[in-house]
This record gives sequence, structure tokens and C-alpha cells, in this order.
Amino acid sequence: MAERMLKFVSVPQRTPDKRDAVARRRDWDEIYRAFSAERAAEQAARCSQCGVPFCQVHCPLGNNIPDWLKLTAEGRLEEAYEVAAATNTFPEICGRVCPQDRLCEGNCVIEKGYDSVTIGAVEKYITDTAWERGWIVPPNPRHELPFSVGIVGAGPAGMAAAEWLRRKGYAVHIYDRHDRAGGLLIYGIPNFKLEKPVVLRRWEQFAAAGIVFHQDCAVGRDVGLGELRARHDAVLIATGVYKPREIGGPGAGLAGIVPALDYLTASNRKGLGDRVAAFDDGTLDAAGKRVVVIGGGDTAMDCVRTAIRQGARSVQCLYRRDRANMPGSLREVKHAEEEGVEFVWLAAPEAFLGDGRVRAVRAVRMHLGLPDATGRQQVEPIPGSSFTLEADLVIKALGFDPEDLPTMFGEPDLACTRWGTLKIDHRTMMTSLAGVFAAGDIVRGASLVVWAIRDGRDAAAQIHRYVQATAARPLAVAAE
Ligand code: FAD
Ligand code: SF4
Ligand code: SF4
Repeated sequence: MAERMLKFVSVPQRTPDKRDAVARRRDWDEIYRAFSAERAAEQAARCSQCGVPFCQVHCPLGNNIPDWLKLTAEGRLEEAYEVAAATNTFPEICGRVCPQDRLCEGNCVIEKGYDSVTIGAVEKYITDTAWERGWIVPPNPRHELPFSVGIVGAGPAGMAAAEWLRRKGYAVHIYDRHDRAGGLLIYGIPNFKLEKPVVLRRWEQFAAAGIVFHQDCAVGRDVGLGELRARHDAVLIATGVYKPREIGGPGAGLAGIVPALDYLTASNRKGLGDRVAAFDDGTLDAAGKRVVVIGGGDTAMDCVRTAIRQGARSVQCLYRRDRANMPGSLREVKHAEEEGVEFVWLAAPEAFLGDGRVRAVRAVRMHLGLPDATGRQQVEPIPGSSFTLEADLVIKALGFDPEDLPTMFGEPDLACTRWGTLKIDHRTMMTSLAGVFAAGDIVRGASLVVWAIRDGRDAAAQIHRYVQATAARPLAVAAE
């Protein structure tokens, strides 16, 4: 092992090549090129095969990272893929969108003074190769079980649970209010971070394994939760969080002030070839406009970079804290700056100016004050520091809250936390309704793809236990 591994001493860290920012501004392709086979093997060989691999401990999926790195270094890619896929439904997606600097790579304990192993890029390389070589097959079961599970939401949490349950032999039905599966992977995250064919091919594989997708089917509108409980032996709610946090103040209702997810969804739909009225009439198209995005999270970063690609005249990002205190990834800020985005730190909107349509944002300078009980520094406006930014399109990216599911589903007994997320028993992942489980953002609040996959996997295991324990009794009876 020692011969092939531990190369961190002689081989420096190399990420896949990043495309030139000028070219990136002109297209929607992912910004990183793929690793070559030699580069992937060389980078994987930098791993020192730690006895206690902190990379694995800090991966929410507990991925067996040292083993797949070693197999990659040895050129045994099919086995590397099997190891990666044993814990992760979408390794190629996590390799692209996980904030590795905060998770696996940020905790790589390769010798002090050396840069971490490029774990995410190798995970992506292994899985993209597996797709190219036809090693990825539909998750067919060995035998069918006489039970079925209904899943509400085809995002990463719902899809991960579907994979595990289908492999075990359950009949799996996924109900989703969108026309395509993938949740935020398809309509939230832009193509330049995650190319859509990467998501769509997984959907096709799942359908080929017999998972039944009921698209354009909103639970609470087209079918009731009670009906799903009667139809299936268990139900999983994985509906994500979609209610945009609003911004108040004078002029907040002017035309041209739009929510981030409407904007990103329209852009993703256009990329997929759909007709989108609100884009085609210019409402959600940044072309030729002066764009101001409000917020400092990853959604805001996706908006500014989308506006650049749509041909905005200028793009500014207004955030009330500074660079060091923003919730979004600093890597994304760097990409955005390279692509021409201007960040206006320590500034918050006071009012929106215009006559029917927004024409400018009046903002005030902020300063960071004393830390509150959570240790986070409070922001305070600096009196008399107002200034104006001209704007034809303002995008609100202030985060998301859960929709009111008990009302939407007509199930007042579905218990929620004070934040509106679903309350579950964290041991069994069951909600307050017997046989109804929940996973992903609807439990955690807005989080990460990798945590949704983890929750989906855990929920599948709990659903299996539950159905085996209650055998074939219909839910309505089991609930009594
Ligand atoms: P979702 O992905 O939201 O899926 C929920 C599904 O439920 C949707 O398909 C929805 O249509 C469906 N649904 C909702 N209500 C109903 C109903 N009543 N009936 C039927 N179907 C319903 N995370 C990262 O790790 N990396 C990133 O780079 C990243 N970028 C992001 C960018 C943006 C713009 C956003 C908004 C989020 C980003 N995230 C990122 C977060 C990540 O996308 C989410 O944490 C993750 O998708 C949550 O998965 P989920 O399955 O719980 O929910
Ligand atoms: Fe790292 Fe995410 Fe892959 Fe885990 S799933 S190894 S955190 S990139
Ligand atoms: Fe390899 Fe780094 Fe993980 Fe150690 S922490 S096993 S060096 S990737």
C-alpha cells in the first residue's frame, strides 16, 4: 500500500481545471473540467489511509472514502464505484455540489502543512466513469415484497429512500407536484453547478427499476394524505421547504422585485427547453438589466451567477454582513467575483424606489456590533449612511421556510415544530401520524443535498422496520 498511496509528500493537491471566467459567462456548462484517469489516480494516491479517517466521520453519509481512494489509485474503478454507491444514492451529484471544504475535505487530516485530498472530485470522477462504462444499472430488487410505500416529493431525500426501498422489494410510488423529478436538483441548483442530464439519467434508471412516478401530482390538492395512507403500507413526506422569506419596507411590492426560486426555476426550465411565460415576457429574464440580489447565502450566489449568464448589464449582491460572516460558501463568492459580480458588503435595503416598476434600491450601511447569545455578531445600521443602487430587477434571496403542511394536507394532527418543520421521533423518523415518516429539508429546514440523501436512507431503513413489524395491516388499522 505504502508504495502506491501516501503520495501527498511528492504530489501537490490539484483540483480539476476550472474553465476561464470569460468563457463561463457565455454558457451554462459546469465550470470544472473532468479529471483525466491519470490525474484522478494520482490525486487519490495522496491519501495517507488514516486509521481513523476524519474525512469519513465528517461525511454525512459516512462514505468509505479511504477505500474508494485506494481502489482509484490502483485503477480498480468498478470496485471503487461499488464502494461509493454502497452508501450514496447520488455520488456524482455530491461530488459536484457538496460543500466539501466544510465536510469531508475540510476534515482531511493528511499530514499538517499539506493540502487535503480532493475527495469530491475523485467521487465525481469514479461515478461519471461508471456511467460512461455502463456499470450503473437500475436498482432492481431480487424479489418483490407484497408491500408498498408512498413517497411525497421526488427531491434527493425522497429519491434516496425510493432507491433503498425498491432494492428491498417494495412497490414504491413517488408523488411530486412538478413535471420532472429531482426537486431542487432539477429546478433550484443551476446547470453551471449541476448539469441537468446528470439528474435526469438517475430518474430514468429509477423508473426502469419499476419505481412509479406520479408527476404533476400535488398532495393536498390532487390527492389527500389520508388517501395515500390508505393506499400504502407507509408514507414518507419529503417535500422540502419552499416558502420564501419576505422583505418589507416602502416599495417592496413594486414590479420587478422577484423571489429567488421563481427566478432560478424559470432559468432552469428554459435550459431544459420549456416555454416559460414569465421568462419570455421579460419578468424573470435579467438580459440587459441592472440586477441587485439581496442575500448572502448559496441561493443568492446562484442568482448572481445566473444573471451574469443571462447577459445582465450589471450584477450587484447586497449583503448586510461582511465576507467573513456570510452563510454562503466563499468558493462560490470567488467564482462569482471572477465572473463579474460586484459584492456590496455590510449594506441592507431600506426602500425600493420606482413608479410601478422598481428603478432603484435605497440601502443603508451596516456595522457589526456585539455578539448575541448565539455568538453571532449583530448588525446595526449606521445613521445617515443611505445610498442608492440603480436596479431594473431585484431578486430576493433571503432563505426559505416550510409551507404549512397540516393545512395543505388537511391533517391538523400532523405535528410541527415552532419553525414549521415536521416534528419526528428522531429514533424512528415517524411523524405524529402512525406510519407517516418524514425526511430532508422538511425536517431539518433548508439544508444540504447530502443530508437529504442521508435522511432518505435512514427513513427507508425505519420504514422497512415498521412495515415488517406491522406486517400487512393497513395503515388506518395500524394507527389505532
Ligand atoms: P427538495 O429537493 O426541495 O424536494 C422536495 C420535492 O417535494 C420537490 O420536488 C417538490 O416539488 C415536492 N413537493 C413539495 N410539496 C409537495 C406536495 N404537496 N405534493 C407533491 N410534491 C411536493 N445543497 C447542496 O448541498 N449544495 C448546493 O450547491 C446547493 N445549492 C442550492 C441552491 C439553491 C438555489 C437551493 C434553493 C438549495 C440548494 N441546496 C444545495 C440545498 C439542497 O438543494 C436541499 O437541501 C435539498 O434539495 C433538499 O432535499 P429534499 O429532498 O428535502 O427537498
Ligand atoms: Fe464529501 Fe459529500 Fe462525498 Fe461525503 S458525499 S464524501 S461530504 S463530497
Ligand atoms: Fe485519506 Fe484524508 Fe481521509 Fe485520511 S482524512 S483517509 S488522508 S482522505
